Amino acid sequence: MKNKNYRVSRATVYNTLDLLVECDLVTKHQFGKNLAQYEKSYGFKQHDHLICTECNQVLEFCDPRIQNIQNTVGEILNFKVLHHSLILYGTCQKENCENRALA
Ligand SMILES: [Zn+2]
Repeated sequence: MKNKNYRVSRATVYNTLDLLVECDLVTKHQFGKNLAQYEKSYGFKQHDHLICTECNQVLEFCDPRIQNIQNTVGEILNFKVLHHSLILYGTCQKENCENRALA
């Protein structure tokens, strides 16, 4: 990243890697105490969707907190949650979409 002139702090890189690991997009291999390597994994564990109500564009996002909610609620209500679906509706970043929704 440094070679390509990306200005990103080390903390940001590691926080992002942690998030990717939690989402199963990246696997962390710990080799010894101070050496870890990260590897791209192909399994898509969970992801949810955002849908633009104006142009129907579908965006995907992955947030491990949703998995946590699923686990917690399942425990509290003694319910075996097998899967979930979550769709957030709104307008995408295209100017037209935002304006049409307000009109
Ligand atoms: Zn749109």
